[in-house]
Amino acid sequence: MEAWEKNVRKVVPYTPGEQPNRPGMVKLNTNENPYPPAPGVAEALRAIGADSLRRYPDPSAGALVRALAEHYGVGEDQVFVGVGSDDVLAMSFLTFFQGGKPILFPDITYSFYDVWADLYRIPYECQPLDADFRIRAEDYRKSCGGIVIPNPNAPTGIALGLEELERIIAGNPDVIVIIDEAYVDFGARSVLPLLPKYGNLLVVRTFSKSRSLAGMRIGYAFGSQKLIKYLNDAKYSFNSYTMSAAALAAGTAALEDDAYFQETLQKVIRTRERVKGELRRLGFAFTDSRSNFIFATHPGCPARDLFEALKEADIYVRYFDKPRIDSYLRITVGTDGEMDRLIRFLEQYIGEKL
Ligand SMILES: *Cc1c(COP(=O)(O)O)cnc(C)c1O
Repeated sequence: MEAWEKNVRKVVPYTPGEQPNRPGMVKLNTNENPYPPAPGVAEALRAIGADSLRRYPDPSAGALVRALAEHYGVGEDQVFVGVGSDDVLAMSFLTFFQGGKPILFPDITYSFYDVWADLYRIPYECQPLDADFRIRAEDYRKSCGGIVIPNPNAPTGIALGLEELERIIAGNPDVIVIIDEAYVDFGARSVLPLLPKYGNLLVVRTFSKSRSLAGMRIGYAFGSQKLIKYLNDAKYSFNSYTMSAAALAAGTAALEDDAYFQETLQKVIRTRERVKGELRRLGFAFTDSRSNFIFATHPGCPARDLFEALKEADIYVRYFDKPRIDSYLRITVGTDGEMDRLIRFLEQYIGEKL
C-alpha cells in the first residue's frame, strides 16, 4: 500500500446489472421499460437544438419541478429532482443521516443502500425479511438514525400496505423515513397522500422504470418544505447543475402525456400477470410482485445454472449470489414477444432437466 492510500475514502462499489447490447438479445436484467418513452419526449429533445447547449441549464430545474408539483398536487417547494433516483437517494443519505445511530433497512433490498451508507460512513442495521420475504413493520420500531423502505421492495416486488407504512413513519417522528417508490406505479399504493401529515417523510421516485427514461437519468422526491430545503442546500453545495437541458425537456414532456403513461403501465402489468401464469404452469414459484419484474424460483433447477443457460441463449435476467435469495431469478417484464421467447426457452430447458 502506498502512503497516500491511507487517506483514500475506500468503498466497495455497487455492481450494476450488465448492460450488453447485441442485436437480437432479450434484456430482462435491469428492470428497464420495454416500451419507448411518450412520443412527446422525442419532439422535446429535437426542439432543444445543439446551439442552446452552450448555456448552463436552469439550476433550479424549474420547468420539471413545476410539472411534477402540478401533476402530483404538491407545492413546488416540496419537490426535489436529481440525476436518477440514485442521485436523489445518495443526496438524501448525505443530508439526513448524520445522527450517529444506525439507519434501518431490510436485509434483502436494493443493494445500493448499504453502499451509500458505507461511502458516507453512516452506520446501518439490516432488518431481516420474514420467511415469506415480507417487511415486518414492527422491526422498524426502535431507536435509530433513519429508515429506508422500498415499496414495492426489490428484488422481491412485494408491496407493503399504506397502514403498515404509516405505522413506520408515525412510529419514528424523530428521524427521516425514506420510502423508495421506484416501482410504485406498477401496482402498489403510494404514501404520497400521507405527505401533509408527516414532516419526516421523503418519497423518492424515478422516471427510469415506469416512464421509460432510464437513459435520461431523472429522479425526484417529495417531502415537507423544510426537508426539501435541506436537500437543495446540500445539492447546491455539491453540484448546482445536476439536471441537463435534455433531462429537463424530456422529463417535462413525459409528464404531459398521462394517457400514454397509463397505457404503457397497463401493458406491463398485463404481461406480468400472463407470464406468472406460464411460470406457474412450468413449476416455478414466485412472490406477489407489484413491480415490473418477477422474482421466481424453481424447485428442480438451481437458479445459477438457469441464469447461465439463459445467458447462453442471449436472454439476460438477474441472479443474486446472496444468502436466502440465491435460488431465485429476477426477471424484468419485457414485451409479450420477449417474454414468449423466455417461456419457450424455459419449456425446453425444464423439459430436458426433469
Ligand atoms: C432502479 C432503482 C432505483 C434507481 O433508479 P434510477 O435509475 O437511479 O432512478 C432506486 N431504487 C430502486 C429500488 C431501484 O430498483
